[in-house]
Amino acid sequence: MSNFFKRFGTKALFTTVPVTSISIVNQVPGQRIDINSLNTVEDCILLANNESFQSGKIQPAIGLHFLKENISCIDILEYPTWEEYENTLKNNYDIVAIGFYTMNFYDAIRMANMAKEYGVKEVWAGNYGAMTPGVTDYFDRRIIGFPEKELKMALDNEVLQSIKHPVLTTPFRILANEEKAGFLISNRGCKYNCDFCSTSHFAPLVEKISTEEIERVLDIYKDMGVNYIILFDETFLQDKNHARETINLLHKKEMKWFCTTRADLLIGHVSELKEKGLDGVYMGIESMNDGNLKDQKKGESVERIKEAIMELTRNEISISGTYILGLLNDTSESIKSDLEKLQDLSLFVLIFLVLTPYPELPQYLSWKNKGLIINDDWRSYDGMNLVFRHPNMSVEDVRDIFEYAVCNIYSPYNYNKRRVLQRMQKIKSSIIQG
Ligand code: SF4
Repeated sequence: MSNFFKRFGTKALFTTVPVTSISIVNQVPGQRIDINSLNTVEDCILLANNESFQSGKIQPAIGLHFLKENISCIDILEYPTWEEYENTLKNNYDIVAIGFYTMNFYDAIRMANMAKEYGVKEVWAGNYGAMTPGVTDYFDRRIIGFPEKELKMALDNEVLQSIKHPVLTTPFRILANEEKAGFLISNRGCKYNCDFCSTSHFAPLVEKISTEEIERVLDIYKDMGVNYIILFDETFLQDKNHARETINLLHKKEMKWFCTTRADLLIGHVSELKEKGLDGVYMGIESMNDGNLKDQKKGESVERIKEAIMELTRNEISISGTYILGLLNDTSESIKSDLEKLQDLSLFVLIFLVLTPYPELPQYLSWKNKGLIINDDWRSYDGMNLVFRHPNMSVEDVRDIFEYAVCNIYSPYNYNKRRVLQRMQKIKSSIIQG
């Protein structure tokens, strides 16, 4: 991130892309999806592969709330409609910052152009989309990583000693139970360096939220009657000491918790973590092929991932995870064989992503130089499309196996996914009957 000049008294708006840009792939505030309103097989597939939907979560724009919590002078706008965005632009902002993902680049450009038409002096690009090639043709500045400390000095003329944590709650479903849950991030960023993951470039430095701040937020959740916490770190447990302090606080306050983490950080610790309130995990499974895991620098083996899953299962911890299709050793047959093995592991939620070389990742740069990138339409960089020349699979092969995976691999306890697939069958039957 480039340095921000001092801008005291500047009027700044931080926003996401409009809700219509992401409506079906995310359950976001104000946009809970009614299954009966789905009319196409494609929409059903998108929703059936949506983690927030399957776990009954409403997913806030957490980064935006961190900004507001720490830089009180800014305004934020979370998943507006286009009309709300345009109306907000009438408030004479000096700066508009737009957070977006690569697939939303064109909507972000439209927003940037609208802002300039309303006399906004500077438009900034944030979130992973700020790494998209050509972004500086449309935006005056790009924000990579977590900017609160620099922005606090630039906009509020104050030193931010330590990061404050926003209070954010959501409904949440674990197996049959729906709870009200609070989001907690104990660390931002990830120290691992998996080739396929944008976080390794966007936020490679890990930044702790202080234990005092974590306790303050947990106390607020307690007062609100929230006793279930979603630890939404990129990789919880990566800093063992800080994780231990966080877990001890959760245990002391008699809270149950769910975390996103890695298999190798769990092995040998699950029963102890369960005693301290662990209820569910989300982790990257990525592949059932050691060559793929090695190529992508995952730093784990299939055996270790299975070992973690077995240990979690023995301890009756709910498991959700991600599987990547289109890794370089994959064929349609090898993926089908992987899927059979995964189905036997009875994961509560399994999300499928197509390997995508996101901008600025080494594999994007290398494949671009070698002419292996076959799709430059950023809308296709959504984790559901093959955008590079694969050694064994065509674009159509990947599309077919992606659909097969989403429609055939799921837990019988995954009520939300089952309902979407039933809706899809209904739509398919009505198409056949004409
Ligand atoms: S451990 Fe997870 S968050 Fe960290 S770089 Fe690897 S995939 Fe990304």
